[in-house]
Amino acid sequence: MSRPTKEQVIDRLRTVNDPELHKDLVTLNMVKDVVISGGKVHVHVELTTPACPLKDRISADVQTAVGQLAGVDEVTLEFSAQVRGQSRAEDKLPGVKHVLAVGAGKGGVGKSTAAVMLATGLARSGASVALLDADIYGPSIPTMMGVRAAKPVVDGELILPIEAAGVKLISIGLMIPPEQAVVWRGPMVHGVVTQFLQQVKWGEVDYLVVDLPPGTGDVPLTLAQAIPFITGAVIICTPQDVALADARRAVRMYEQLNVGCLGVIENMSYYVCPECGHRDEIFDHGGAEVAARELGVPFLGAIPLNGKLRAFADAGAPEKYFTETADSVRHAIESVVQATAGQVSVRSAEQADQPTLTIE
Ligand code: ADP
Repeated sequence: MSRPTKEQVIDRLRTVNDPELHKDLVTLNMVKDVVISGGKVHVHVELTTPACPLKDRISADVQTAVGQLAGVDEVTLEFSAQVRGQSRAEDKLPGVKHVLAVGAGKGGVGKSTAAVMLATGLARSGASVALLDADIYGPSIPTMMGVRAAKPVVDGELILPIEAAGVKLISIGLMIPPEQAVVWRGPMVHGVVTQFLQQVKWGEVDYLVVDLPPGTGDVPLTLAQAIPFITGAVIICTPQDVALADARRAVRMYEQLNVGCLGVIENMSYYVCPECGHRDEIFDHGGAEVAARELGVPFLGAIPLNGKLRAFADAGAPEKYFTETADSVRHAIESVVQATAGQVSVRSAEQADQPTLTIE
């Protein structure tokens, strides 16, 4: 019986598109190896993020495409992940592949909570993640990450980040008292943040999540400008009309800075009573998705209002968002994390020239 050749398998893999990147796996250089042993074909696929939302779909599509070849009895897959990013050797943050700016049109919508969810969730997926709390007037990351008492150590010229929940983090709040920051104006913020960012020993980082101050005023704008490069902004909002208007302004502010929007997250989207399961849409629901569509930016998902999330934030236990909440809450958060990672991959693929196939 004739058996398939590697070339035939690769040809079949050219028919499998990454559902988000809209190109085939071979063109995207995601096929790392093909091993054929009799009728058994083993394909090694390298995903563009360990938090890939579409792994199952890619797996099924590869099974179908390769399984159609004559002489194939079994198709097995192996996945690895390598976050792709442009080389930043010449840049001010050499080891950092992507910077995600987390912003909001106004305070209190859960921006810092979302920054913590994204950082912790991406780290849990296996990525190397850092978190910079740049919300200089209300730094809440140390509390939410459970490191309020930590004192960053200086190593020579550089500050060593603190590690919590698998995330390297630094808060301006741990270095500069917020009372001091209150008097700062734009140019001073710019200087301090530029210096601060470059004086942290970030090391090799796939995703640096930056929690920016809320609003569209001078300070968030200058702060965003002080970051050497931003892959994209993630805007957090709640569903009421008044909050959405602010979120729209935030999206436009980042666009004016030439920072594309990775998407919008609707927080406090609905409430499910843990006792009776009744669902209440306290602040209305779905507005962020509509606003995202109108603005032409992706909608990254909805996170419910949930007492445990608040309690774990206050207790500085971010991993418990993923381990000790109801399944529906956990799934909502995981789906937002995956959608965000997916959009980073999309942005990265748009920016980078695709490498060529290296399989022999
Ligand atoms: P912001 O950074 O936008 O000012 P925070 O992230 O600090 O907002 O959140 C404000 C408060 O709301 C915090 O006490 C936080 O724990 C709580 N919170 C945020 N999102 C949720 C949620 N989905 N469910 C319950 N509480 C939340």
